Amino acid sequence: MYVVVQGDPSDIDRFSNDILKLAPPASRIKSIDVFPSIVGEYDRFTVTASREINDHVTEISPDIAVCGQCLEDMSSDPGRIDYPFINCTNCGPRFTIIKGLPYDRPLTTMSGFSMCPKCRREYNDIDDRRFHAQPIACNSCGPSCRLTDGRAVITDLREILVKTSAIIDGGGSVALKGVGGYHLACDALNNDAVVRLRQVKKRDMKPFAVMFRDLAALKEYCHTDFSEEKELLSWIRPVVLLRSKRSLARQVSNGLMTTGAFLPFMPFHYLLFRHLKTPVMVLTSGNISEEPVIKDDGEAMDKLLKTADALVSYNRDISNRADDSVIMVTKPGIIVIRRSRGYVPRPVDLAFDAEGILALGAEQKNTFSIGRKNQAIISQYTGDLKNAGVFNFYKESIENFSSLFRFTPRYIAHDLHPDYYSALYASFLSEKYDIPSVAVQHQHAHIASCLAEHCLDEMVAGVCLDGTGFGSDGNAWGGEFMIADTGSFERYCHFDYVPMPGGDRVVYEPWRMAFSFLYKYLGDSFDYDSLEVFRRTGIQKLALVNEMLKKNINSPLSSGAGRLFDAVSALTGLCYETSFDSEAPMRLESAIKHNCDGCYPFSITETVIFADMFLGILDDLMNKADISEISARFHNTIVQVIVEVAERIRSSRGIGKVVLSGGVFQNRYLLERTFEKLEKKGFRVYTNHQVPVNDGGISLGQTAVASKHFGLCV
Ligand code: ZN
Ligand code: ZN
Ligand code: FE
Repeated sequence: MYVVVQGDPSDIDRFSNDILKLAPPASRIKSIDVFPSIVGEYDRFTVTASREINDHVTEISPDIAVCGQCLEDMSSDPGRIDYPFINCTNCGPRFTIIKGLPYDRPLTTMSGFSMCPKCRREYNDIDDRRFHAQPIACNSCGPSCRLTDGRAVITDLREILVKTSAIIDGGGSVALKGVGGYHLACDALNNDAVVRLRQVKKRDMKPFAVMFRDLAALKEYCHTDFSEEKELLSWIRPVVLLRSKRSLARQVSNGLMTTGAFLPFMPFHYLLFRHLKTPVMVLTSGNISEEPVIKDDGEAMDKLLKTADALVSYNRDISNRADDSVIMVTKPGIIVIRRSRGYVPRPVDLAFDAEGILALGAEQKNTFSIGRKNQAIISQYTGDLKNAGVFNFYKESIENFSSLFRFTPRYIAHDLHPDYYSALYASFLSEKYDIPSVAVQHQHAHIASCLAEHCLDEMVAGVCLDGTGFGSDGNAWGGEFMIADTGSFERYCHFDYVPMPGGDRVVYEPWRMAFSFLYKYLGDSFDYDSLEVFRRTGIQKLALVNEMLKKNINSPLSSGAGRLFDAVSALTGLCYETSFDSEAPMRLESAIKHNCDGCYPFSITETVIFADMFLGILDDLMNKADISEISARFHNTIVQVIVEVAERIRSSRGIGKVVLSGGVFQNRYLLERTFEKLEKKGFRVYTNHQVPVNDGGISLGQTAVASKHFGLCV
């Protein structure tokens, strides 16, 4: 952006300082370059129309929660009393309404609404809070809401609010059109309502996010500290994972000790809570099963209204889909679990050139990334590419991002796994554009994502703990200690290989991993019937799995840390079979009641062997030790393994920087304790804060590796 300023040098100085000091909360000023120039005389301030400059990349703002001043205007500005689409220069939808650049009203989904004289005056008035606010609107000229229950349609806002709150307070569910897609809402204190909502969504038992009326209501149910409150109230308004204080309806969190909570971010939410009796509602993505969140009104009518009691919509299209973002505030900093609304499409600044790199990500929790100069623009969370709807959304979004950011792919980076849809799509694109591609090993990409975020390019001790990733030897990796930079990696040490009897089925049936670990370390000599987990499983299933392991049928090898957590979770009786992704490790972490220091023995050669740890756990189980203590000791063991391997790497290679990445580090206890212990030993420790530690961060890591691989300049 160019600003021409005329005046005394001291005034100009003050002006450029004020730009930084008084910047709106959602703005991001990277640097200000001041240089003298000879221009004509100006006697007033003007903003000229945006010029299209071909190769110039314009940053697009993420969506911003409604601001405090607009909320005040909702009760004082005559044209905007209770107006649910109120916004200003500092707030309102952005990315989700943009169809093209430059970001001016005609290229947004507001283009169909022509401004009334009052809005136009404010839009053009430099002293107005809505000066050049592209989505400016009011009661007489902007979008409006409608409610339908499939029979009648209500268009009066007050009636809509009364009806919606009556349904929710009465135990029903409502589909609400949000910023980046539809939500499904019901009373979070009414268990029957929550159970019914799960049926609407055809959703497993995964915890639901809940929206509280305000911070005071939230604090009745969740523990918060200062930094968590800051994030809850920030303009991004993410879902923040908090420690539960008082329980909501049982089926909201399904026995986990955490609550995914957020606060109102659309004017409509505030208006609705004025009418609602309940202080908290489940507000979950409006989608069926694993499909992308629904953003189009027709599809919402078809799919959501079948089972929800009513649908509240509005007559402005959502151009770009964006789910709610999910974060966690830990001692080392913010951990982003899902990066979407409020974050996307804000770029990640890089210390290297990434121009032309299209990185296609992994498979689950997928994102892709496009490289423009020394920035990576990472897509919103798309989902699991195995789902046909998600895969289509992914392909469309690649097209969208390419045209929005005037991006032409020159290089392609993809996961090493030959069967991932993203990798298959990579070979299609590489042929279509006749451009080179590079396959990036999965865990190396995790480590590289963290290196890229922290602008590090040197050999580090990379600790990647995750579920699975295709290894260079063809096995499933996931408990990896690497000596790596962005250019290459050496697999220094890894968790013991253990067969996964039944392949991918182990993910849903963690008891299989419990059996596999014990069978590997104890063989036939152990009395499996002495353990509750195997008595529950039943003799027939056990015999079958035993046979698979003996004859090596459909039992691929895995070093995945996720599998080890699965095994221990099943063994301790916390989770035999899963009903949602990562349930077993989440229940294991949730079982820890208080910190304790003990850990189990293990041994490290070129692999980390857990035989002694399992013997220790079995002993504890026989002695009826507290499950909370077993879980804490198990977690401490993993921390101790990380510390010992890091020390070996430091003493043999002189490397003192440790990078932690991979989905297992979404475990707060593990992450915080690992940081603490490593820092106590004098290591510099890094993890991801801008992109997820889970597979949502893979595309950034692939970008870094590709830049090195293709020799792009620094
Ligand atoms: Zn505002
Ligand atoms: Zn107006
Ligand atoms: Fe991974």
